[in-house]
Amino acid sequence: MAAFTAYDNEEILDYLRSQVSTGVVHTDEKTVRAHSFSPLESDPRTSGLALAYVEATSTLDVQGVLRTARKFHLPVVTQDHFTSTVIGADGIEGSLLLSTAKMNKILELNKEDSLAVVEPGVLNSDLDKAARAQGLFFAPDPGSKTTSGIGGNVATNAGGMSTVKYGSTKENVLGLKVVLADGRELKLGGRTLKQAFGYDLTQLFVGSEGTLGVITEVTVKLLPIPLGTPLMGVASFSSMDVLAKAVEEIRGSGIYPTMLEAFDHNTLGALDRYRGTHYAQTSDAMLIFKIDAATPEAEGVLRALFTRFKATDVWVTSKPDEQANLMQMRWDMLPAVFKGQNHIMEDMAVPLSKLAEMVDYIARVGEQLDLRIYTAGHAGDGNVHSTVTWPKGEEAPAAVTQALRLMFRKALELGGTISGEHSVGMLKTQWNNEELGDDVDMVQHQIKSLLDPMNLLNPKRKIN
Ligand SMILES: Cc1cc2nc3c(=O)[nH]c(=O)nc-3n(C[C@H](O)[C@H](O)[C@H](O)COP(=O)(O)OP(=O)(O)OC[C@H]3O[C@@H](n4cnc5c(N)ncnc54)[C@H](O)[C@@H]3O)c2cc1C
Repeated sequence: MAAFTAYDNEEILDYLRSQVSTGVVHTDEKTVRAHSFSPLESDPRTSGLALAYVEATSTLDVQGVLRTARKFHLPVVTQDHFTSTVIGADGIEGSLLLSTAKMNKILELNKEDSLAVVEPGVLNSDLDKAARAQGLFFAPDPGSKTTSGIGGNVATNAGGMSTVKYGSTKENVLGLKVVLADGRELKLGGRTLKQAFGYDLTQLFVGSEGTLGVITEVTVKLLPIPLGTPLMGVASFSSMDVLAKAVEEIRGSGIYPTMLEAFDHNTLGALDRYRGTHYAQTSDAMLIFKIDAATPEAEGVLRALFTRFKATDVWVTSKPDEQANLMQMRWDMLPAVFKGQNHIMEDMAVPLSKLAEMVDYIARVGEQLDLRIYTAGHAGDGNVHSTVTWPKGEEAPAAVTQALRLMFRKALELGGTISGEHSVGMLKTQWNNEELGDDVDMVQHQIKSLLDPMNLLNPKRKIN
């Protein structure tokens, strides 16, 4: 049966071009394809080729793309720097891919008010660098710091290593400008550290994954670089659950670390292969820690705690070059684990007191299903990144799906979440009712239909 179409694609594209005044509309298949399918995670079964890829450079462009979408009833996928790990920014068949990556100006960096106003495409690391030049810093530090944008960070409520002390992106956003599907631009929040007026719509858009509006400007909190000597170090434990119990006590000790990162034995093996080290020979579980403003007592308190948990190979350094090397080891973790194998990295978070039970359970799932699971992550905030792997070039065996189901159910049973920081995207929408409950799931849909009644914005993602 022939499909009836009111417009052909050329008519739609002509109109789109007429609506984008400063940006660029790409329609050549190579470019559109490259931005429709993420090299990281996408799957031809869940992502589709967009009709056009638009690099917006102004709010007017964003409004023009949305006008086109409304006129022709087309889905719009907003994309920033396309590092989503949950199929959150991939193309949808026939959609308009709206990129904010080229809206990348730091509009204001204000030391007196400790804030910056930026366009969404500014890279996290560029903002942090600019802030540091003035004695300030931008706290959220996802592993994708040098490759992801502030717009994407806000839209996913990105976390990172320093979340343990400084919170995730949501704790560091003061205000937003957002364009709704109907073209209205909302100015939300403001420039004050305290705000108690109106519903907190700023936070509604944080983590909304491009489903409620397009973020065109972000006002972020900057913090002064703390005084004191930064300390970093490592300690090895007899198992991940002993490490998890030690982390629980470190959190309660009053030291306020800025980083408490864990590697299990499999992860240490991968790092050894990648970096030519030999950690796995002597360590079953390793903790890398950092205190950015250590008091004179902090090191003593930490060492005493490590002794109590029978930690070995304890090493603490205040030397910047040694600290840089340790940081590099942490950055190397993902490429080391991913190298040469198919993988899916998960992102559960549990209350701190349940971390030991969670990591122990994951190890048992790996054994029972005969899968190699690498568990690492931001132990300090109970965020477990378990990576399930299978041989390159092969379809994921059923055991991988089974392992994910078991881990997710356990995280929820322990009062946790199946997404600590990477968000929902397309990968986890089926879990909405289980994690949130039917009523909250329904309220989410009601909010969505209020703000985006035509369901144009990133449909099938986050809540659908
Ligand atoms: C190596 C690696 C390490 C990572 N480490 C971490 C980590 O430690 N912590 C963490 O939280 N994440 C991490 N991630 C995941 C990813 O980097 C984050 O989710 C990041 O915030 C996405 O930013 P982006 O600019 O790439 O956005 P994109 O991937 O382009 O988009 C992500 C989502 O945001 C929406 N979006 C993008 N821009 C806008 C906008 N202007 N308005 C409205 N919606 C928008 C998109 O529609 C999509 O749903 C990692 C990814 C990689 C590849």
